[in-house]
Amino acid sequence: MNIKHYLRSPIVRLSLSYLTIIMIMSIGFSCVFFLTSARELDKPAGPEYYSTVGVRDPDHEVDQWLRERAASGRASLAMNLALVNVITLILGSGVSYLLARRTLRPIEATMKIQERFIADASHELRTPLTSLLLTNEVALRKKRITDSDARAHIEQNVRDLQQLTKLSNELLDLASVSQPVTFTDVQVQDVIASSMAQVQPQADVRKITLTSSADPYIVKTHSEKLTKLLVILLDNAIKYSDDGGSVAIHCIVRDKDVQLQIVDQGIGMSKQAMEHIFERFYRADPSRTTANGHGLGLSIAVKLAGELQATLSATSRLHKGSTFTVSIPR
Ligand code: ADP
Repeated sequence: MNIKHYLRSPIVRLSLSYLTIIMIMSIGFSCVFFLTSARELDKPAGPEYYSTVGVRDPDHEVDQWLRERAASGRASLAMNLALVNVITLILGSGVSYLLARRTLRPIEATMKIQERFIADASHELRTPLTSLLLTNEVALRKKRITDSDARAHIEQNVRDLQQLTKLSNELLDLASVSQPVTFTDVQVQDVIASSMAQVQPQADVRKITLTSSADPYIVKTHSEKLTKLLVILLDNAIKYSDDGGSVAIHCIVRDKDVQLQIVDQGIGMSKQAMEHIFERFYRADPSRTTANGHGLGLSIAVKLAGELQATLSATSRLHKGSTFTVSIPR
């Protein structure tokens, strides 16, 4: 590593900035200290001084001796202060480096998360893009293309484009900065009904029964964001259930919070998988889910729950089913 490269590294630059501040303070303090002390040393000795040291008639020699003593005092003070500054420089370098490392650690962690996010996002984008490219290239290479072939190609293109649209929407949802939301009185039953209506078509295709058991209850929340959160959880519950299964939403009013539970009897998750499900791009079983998800739904759900000052938790048993719970404080 050459010196230019070394000096460009953030930790060295930040350490040097800290060290500069420390040294400016130390040298500044030393200068002030030296000047005030030197002024005191240079003060001509008054009659009180001569009387305290027992000299009645100060002559030229005594004066000369006092001046020399002041000069040597100044020199030794300067030496001591220089020494203090050298020690400050050595200790300051270490302290600056430690401080810089401490300051940069969270920034580096955020950068690493960001880099991984970009790498994962590019990887997810590549799959539908490659598929789009391939189907179109294959179709173009054919001398003649029948109507049914053309239809099959277009259908594949539409599927890939749908995946891309879903992925870009999810990425935008995750990347957008959370804005403060205004809470209003919201009827829980209405939110449940509207989120169920949004996933009903998927449930119908899979012959999955959707039920809800919610008494009328008003909560202070943001209706659209809560609906979006429930849609993500309902969508997963349907996606990870076997055909002909059932998914239910319960509303439980407790002392401190209102719990909305989305319960399915689907494939469930192992303990190991449960530790990662809220991580971006994590999929417990990619072979089963590649076509339908990118592992971002639950990360968005967590973000939405945060914006709603609610919490999101999950319990699950492999091959038995899962329960996702949104707790909204009362
Ligand atoms: P995806 O788009 O893959 O569904 P999510 O972030 O919504 O991404 O979920 C992450 C992973 O958590 C899923 O890939 C799946 O393995 C698991 N998962 C989420 N919800 C359920 C559920 N209701 N039942 C079983 N597994 C689930």
